[in-house]
Amino acid sequence: MAPSSRTGARRSSRAARREELLRAAARVEVPSSVDVCVVGGGASGLVAAVCAAEAGAGVLVADAAPECGRTILATGNGRCNFSNVSLDLRRYNDPAFVGAVFGERPLDDILGFFRDCGLRWGLEEDRLYPRSRRAASVRNVLLARLARSGAVVAAARAALGARREPDRTLLRLSGVPEHGLDARLSCRSLVIACGGATQPWLGDLGLATRAAHPALCPVACERDPLLALDGLRAPVALSLVSRRSGLPRWRERGEVLVRPYGISGIVSLNLSRRAAAGDTVLIDLAPDLSSSELRRLVDPRAHGRAARGGLDGVLDPELAALLERRAKGDVEQLLALAKSYPLVVRGLADQGHAQVSSGGLVTGQFAPDTLEARELPGVFACGEALDVDADCGGFNLSWAWKSGMVAGAAAAARALGRSRSHASGEEEGR
Ligand SMILES: Cc1cc2nc3c(=O)[nH]c(=O)nc-3n(C[C@H](O)[C@H](O)[C@H](O)COP(=O)(O)OP(=O)(O)OC[C@H]3O[C@@H](n4cnc5c(N)ncnc54)[C@H](O)[C@@H]3O)c2cc1C
Repeated sequence: MAPSSRTGARRSSRAARREELLRAAARVEVPSSVDVCVVGGGASGLVAAVCAAEAGAGVLVADAAPECGRTILATGNGRCNFSNVSLDLRRYNDPAFVGAVFGERPLDDILGFFRDCGLRWGLEEDRLYPRSRRAASVRNVLLARLARSGAVVAAARAALGARREPDRTLLRLSGVPEHGLDARLSCRSLVIACGGATQPWLGDLGLATRAAHPALCPVACERDPLLALDGLRAPVALSLVSRRSGLPRWRERGEVLVRPYGISGIVSLNLSRRAAAGDTVLIDLAPDLSSSELRRLVDPRAHGRAARGGLDGVLDPELAALLERRAKGDVEQLLALAKSYPLVVRGLADQGHAQVSSGGLVTGQFAPDTLEARELPGVFACGEALDVDADCGGFNLSWAWKSGMVAGAAAAARALGRSRSHASGEEEGR
């Protein structure tokens, strides 16, 4: 088949799949009132819905997309790095709030939840992946558990408006026009789990939001000969030096990918959360060698060899040639470039593909033990909808899972008129 007809076939099979999903969504009747409505059936919303339904609440999950959990499929390059054995709070923008929500043993809670879903997993360094290395496995076990829990899933319905009444929230859902899926419903507890995109309807509830902007994306740099080596991958140690203070602000090791506009790869994604225009990235291109070890390899005085060609075999040949051209035979300059190659930050690149957004509902409005809005009893939030973001490495999904558990259990407890400890089986209801 010619490439254009292959593309055409893929498009029409995607369109047919979408139609099929929309027809299935249209068959779902949205009740006029439920105990708990979870807006957003992504990573955090699915977990919140499972926890609320398993605690005995009648739950509806509304998602704007024709099916739930689509974001999960794209995570970890389709492999889903779903958690990390070292959930270091310093990886988050708001360690105090995240720590209070996480409690004592967040990893045990997350792994316990997924064990109960039937997921198997494996470890790559500190990162946890499903054993199948397929993100679909994570989504499938979540959807299967959600179906067993009895929650109703109303896909292709986006929340567009909300009004809080003393003991309930009235919600306006809008569906795909040709399928006539618009609906209104009331819920005792509302869980906001609609991810990081700006959501004007949250303003209806009077909740304060910090404007969202993309985070975890490649870093754009000023023009530099290094950027001509487009596609080069190299193990490096990066250090970010602040333009203002001249002091290093962040250090990270990993693989960098050189692009014509700057740098990409996981290390640069983490850098992007901290870098500002004018900052300098110093790249240690030989991170496994100390300066003196590198000197012994390339300095003719130390080694009895010519400096020229001294880096070939230590670094990628093209990279070595570039450094040697720039050093013009000066060994000190060559060593300096190899151990701290400077690139000046211009800003963020490819923001449309950012993995998370920074910003969202201001965390101080929510009690960390329940994720309930302090001034709006019965309104809860979890996942990226809150102003929480983190480095790459399974930290963002860990937040989504654990915050979903907290919000889901507390939303059910509120809707059923129980104290929160009752929801976890410790105490009698009120
Ligand atoms: C390409 C990519 C790769 C990633 N890889 C990783 C990784 O490997 N590890 C990791 O830890 N993190 C990763 N992340 C980040 C991670 O996916 C997010 O942190 C996580 O999905 C956030 O969960 P959430 O439930 O808050 O939002 P989402 O999972 O985005 O879910 C939000 C849901 O809300 C729905 N929605 C939005 N607005 C409305 C509305 N008005 N009404 C109804 N529904 C609505 C959306 O359709 C969506 O289903 C990655 C992200 C991307 C984009």
